[in-house]
Amino acid sequence: MRATELFFPPLREEPSEAETISHRLLFRAGMIRKTAGGIYTYLPLGYRVIKKIINIVREEMDRAGGQEVGLPIVQPAELWMQSGRWLVYGDEMFRLKDRHQRDFCLGPTHEEVITDIVNHEVHSYRNLPLLLYQIQNKYRDEIRPRFGLMRGREFIMKDLYSFDVDEDGLELSYRKMYEAYCRVFDRLGLDYRVVEADSGAIGGNVSHEFIVLADTGESTVVFCDTCQYAANVEKAESVPEPRGDREEASPVQKVHTPGQRTIQDLCAFLGLPQHRQVKTLVYVADGRPVVALVRGDREVNEIKLKNHLGANQVEMAGESVVRELTGAGFGSLGPVGLNLQVYADREVALMSNLVCGANEDDYHYINVNPGRDFQPAAYIDLRNAQEGDLCPVCREGRLKQTRGIETGHIFKLGTKYSEKMDATFLDEKGKERPMVMGCYGIGISRTMAAAIEQNYDEDGIIWPIAIAPFQVIIIPVNVKNREQMQVAESLYSEMQKAGLEVIMDDRDERAGVKFKDADLIGIPIRITIGPKSLQAGQVEVKKRWEKDFEMVEIDQALAKVRAIISAAAVQA
Ligand code: ATP
Ligand code: MG
Repeated sequence: MRATELFFPPLREEPSEAETISHRLLFRAGMIRKTAGGIYTYLPLGYRVIKKIINIVREEMDRAGGQEVGLPIVQPAELWMQSGRWLVYGDEMFRLKDRHQRDFCLGPTHEEVITDIVNHEVHSYRNLPLLLYQIQNKYRDEIRPRFGLMRGREFIMKDLYSFDVDEDGLELSYRKMYEAYCRVFDRLGLDYRVVEADSGAIGGNVSHEFIVLADTGESTVVFCDTCQYAANVEKAESVPEPRGDREEASPVQKVHTPGQRTIQDLCAFLGLPQHRQVKTLVYVADGRPVVALVRGDREVNEIKLKNHLGANQVEMAGESVVRELTGAGFGSLGPVGLNLQVYADREVALMSNLVCGANEDDYHYINVNPGRDFQPAAYIDLRNAQEGDLCPVCREGRLKQTRGIETGHIFKLGTKYSEKMDATFLDEKGKERPMVMGCYGIGISRTMAAAIEQNYDEDGIIWPIAIAPFQVIIIPVNVKNREQMQVAESLYSEMQKAGLEVIMDDRDERAGVKFKDADLIGIPIRITIGPKSLQAGQVEVKKRWEKDFEMVEIDQALAKVRAIISAAAVQA
């Protein structure tokens, strides 16, 4: 490809809503354009990256025994009614009606469609296991589409579904996918971690996320400094640990605490540390108020609360609701005398002479003791695990915390969908049994953004070689110089013949402009042909991720480029 022929839009001002590096750089490098909120057009450079990610994913899915299918984007409501998800999926689903007023949706995911197909077409254990996948647009009307490709309303996903005769079969399929995912992310050249995850609305009980590490990521993961344990904080079990010695219970006292609304304020006011306080939060779970208690220096984990209650939706209650229920505002809540269902984190049971709100504005109790002064409905694991916690698995190591981007997610679904949708088969004995399912997603477009969040500098993107739009860029410093152009043209055709993906910047621009653009777009290897190097029969070869260039004999340039590529990329 020649730069003069490339559809590369002129640089424009960055969109003001671009909050993340990847969003800004994808825009500036002319790779994407916004068509509507959370809906993007991929321009040629950007689409080359997408196709490369897709190719790697496709190769690994095929290698693991997956068979590619094309499922419809427009899905009839009936299928979602069968699975029971039409009503519970909520506002994230794009719904539409046809001319006969029949309900449809744009597929946010494809468990229903695929289970229906398999239900109709597969009837015997002889046809199982089956691993079917597709790579296609998904539609989710996210509350907050943001960060460009990271959280879109239309995005590209690879989704694979496994169908097995029993749990052992599922275990095998799951492991195959786990390994295939590791190969995918190794080949993409990304630094990632596999973590235990919550299975959320999709269902099932075992699930892992593939997290591309980046400070800008929305996911927080914890991992043990001693054993292999790693989990999303949404899921990570917290181990209760006492802070300080248990004290002899003292009599409760009510104290006047005017204007002390936050835990920090109150700590300073009473001269007590945060871990002596209890945080009291009111939630509404499927319309019913519940109260959550955690130690003052901890955070409530709403997903754990939701899972414990088996609720569809859990939301923080607004202040007016809280006042109506408790008689006080946010800053003065506490469990004593509260006539609501209270769930306390297990750590709260280890506290003594604690501080909490008195359910009366500007008053708190001190010397409150669990069991004596209030009795929760249950002590459960209700808090976020955090840096420094004891590891819940080896019970020796301590947890470390890091941030990242969830780019892949695998689930064991079991028989949740096959039972509801009647996807059964006849086993060897002629007995009818539900198929045992798994599902496995990779966000293709999100992975593109994640690759940038992990690989950039002040000049632009630094693509891992495996997914760069071009591997090599050839820059003749002056296109009007015949000798430079001759060398540039001959290297260009030599590299093309060798099967490399090469772009030549044949624009009549200053060298500085061309270097800037090459850096911004993130082409991994740059070959510069200038007057000085030519005198010595050489060209400059520079890696995007290194500062200095090397001088290489013209006839060694191809071998040099090949060596850089094979050193950098994990082979297929
Ligand atoms: P999240 O928690 O980020 O909303 P999810 O749990 O809803 O993700 P899955 O349903 O497991 O995501 O989808 C599989 C993969 O699809 C995710 O791992 C992610 O890479 C990608 N993905 C999900 N939602 C989006 C989105 N709105 N935009 C881009 N990619 C997405
Ligand atoms: Mg989601």
